Amino acid sequence: MKIRNISLRVILILVLTVVFVVATIGFTIFDIRIQTENMEDSLTEEARTFAREMDAVWQFMDNSQYTINNTTDGTYEFKGLHCAIVGKSVGAIFSAGNNYAIRYTNSEPRRAQDKPDAFESEALALFNESSEVRELSRIVGNDPEDVNRARTSADTGAAQFRYVQALSVNESCLECHGEPVGEIDITGFEKEGWTLDSIGGAISIVIPLEQQYQALRDNVIRDVSFFLLLATFIGVVVFGLMTVFVLRPLESMKRAFGEVGAGRLSQSMDNAGTAREVASLIDRFNAMAQELRVTYEGLEDQVTERTLDLRRANEELAAQRDSLEVLSAQLAKESQVKTDLLSMVNHELRTPLTSIITLAQIALDSGNADVEERKSWEEVRKSSSVLLGMINNMLDIARSDAGSMAVSSEIMDLGDIIATAQGTLGPLAINARVTLKTSVAPDVPLVYGDFEKMQRILENLGTNAVKFTASGGVVALSVSVEAETEDVLVQVSDNGIGIAEEDQERIFERFFQVDSSTTRIYGGSGLGLALVREYAVAQGFGISVESELGEGSTFTVRIPKADTVDFSEEDE
Ligand code: ADP
Repeated sequence: MKIRNISLRVILILVLTVVFVVATIGFTIFDIRIQTENMEDSLTEEARTFAREMDAVWQFMDNSQYTINNTTDGTYEFKGLHCAIVGKSVGAIFSAGNNYAIRYTNSEPRRAQDKPDAFESEALALFNESSEVRELSRIVGNDPEDVNRARTSADTGAAQFRYVQALSVNESCLECHGEPVGEIDITGFEKEGWTLDSIGGAISIVIPLEQQYQALRDNVIRDVSFFLLLATFIGVVVFGLMTVFVLRPLESMKRAFGEVGAGRLSQSMDNAGTAREVASLIDRFNAMAQELRVTYEGLEDQVTERTLDLRRANEELAAQRDSLEVLSAQLAKESQVKTDLLSMVNHELRTPLTSIITLAQIALDSGNADVEERKSWEEVRKSSSVLLGMINNMLDIARSDAGSMAVSSEIMDLGDIIATAQGTLGPLAINARVTLKTSVAPDVPLVYGDFEKMQRILENLGTNAVKFTASGGVVALSVSVEAETEDVLVQVSDNGIGIAEEDQERIFERFFQVDSSTTRIYGGSGLGLALVREYAVAQGFGISVESELGEGSTFTVRIPKADTVDFSEEDE
């Protein structure tokens, strides 16, 4: 489960609970330890007090030996109240009324009951080892096998506090326990040979811990209960504060963001009763909502404005469309007029012109006409041919514009085309006193193309060449194969007036004529080369011109190798 799927409230409760449990366990352990230490300290103090009191009584009895053992007249009469008896009695008196066991013990006791147990022996050994160590205390458990437990008459089976304090040998002890060793003392026992300040035994105190443990338990329960109450109170206060100052404002912010997200930008939050950080967050939210509101309103205005613009543009477009429709209708009408005109030109001009040319040719061929008549017939034939050429060009252009120009791809022999062109151009050349030369290289292959269009290309180029070459000039029609590319080149060259470099590209444009004065001299419509280019391009051929003013021009139709007929391929 990812943390972002858990609500802050749940996280808070979980964290508080964990802190609560850990703190309670920690506090309980700490409290038990402190209470135990305190108990040990107070028990040690209590045991010390007992030992001191016992010692004091002992001292008193020691100091009072003379009084006890001497009668009023000064006669010594031993009463038997020696230290061992006193120690035992005082211990018994101190133990009375409580369940403590207090006694005297010694490593080599005169009486068997004073023999030390394991704990006491350990203490006595420590005291004998170092004069610094004067007491030993420890809590021993309630394990019956534990050798450190005191098997006293008061043993309740509970854990015990054991305390042993060293007893030093003083002056009065030496009387019964000092030198010489083995001498029989006043009480009838052999002297041990103790020396001054050596360890003459110990006071041993055993305190059963039943009540103390009960008290300790009560104390711990009381402390932990108080701690629990306090921790619960703090937890509730923290949770309440978090709810009021963080969770609730967050909830309302979530709601407010949701509203803004849904487009209700009029949202505004109240920051009253919130902490500074949250209040500043709310203020920023309000500012953001306000900014969004302003932007949105601005956007709406912009959208309205743009819609208006768009509507206006649409209206303009509609108006333009209407006028275009009108224009289109007009054009359609004009186009119809043009078509009508063209068909009229076709039928009404071409037919009679062809007849006139034929008639002129017949008259010229008949040989009946005299020189003057021949001149006239010649003029008629020439003008009619020029006119027919112009009309043909116009009709071709019109067809091309109407999209009805069909291009076929058939196998052509360029030699045939040159021969046909020679037939058409021959009379014109003779008339213009221009030499017409033709040449077809022997390696020229057959090509794919439109025979008729190719013929029209050569006619137009040839007519121009003748037209723009002064009498005595030479016009050459040639077909060759370019060595590097193996393209076939059909070229029409002349040594006529030539074309300036800046005009060489433009001459292929419709109605372009280099100079209107020449037009007047040579006639023409400016459509011939435009058609040449269209025909060439339609067949996939290239067209170019090389020319120099006053030197002549060469027009080249480039038929790519791909359009040549390869018989070896066809055979396959
Ligand atoms: P046009 O009917 O006027 O000859 P073209 O399109 O055939 O129209 O030719 C356009 C112009 O290009 C001509 O008017 C002429 O100025 C120039 N032109 C064409 N061929 C030649 C040429 N062989 N020598 C010089 N100028 C030429």
